[in-house]
Amino acid sequence: MADNPKLVPLRPPRTCPICGKRATREAYPFCSKRCADIDLGNWLTGRYAIPASPDDEEEGGGRDEEA
Ligand SMILES: [Zn+2]
Repeated sequence: MADNPKLVPLRPPRTCPICGKRATREAYPFCSKRCADIDLGNWLTGRYAIPASPDDEEEGGGRDEEA
């Protein structure tokens, strides 16, 4: 049984993916709200970039192979 919280923790302490510091409970899994915002910003401006124009050919459906 793991009734004693001082025993083995369920999970190892998380580190902030942004700066590598230890994550805090408030901003989990980040070390602070600031890093959480930074990560969110990365998402919105980086990977998850949404094409500005609706006519973008990205969503064509792979017709390049046909031509
Ligand atoms: Zn951080």
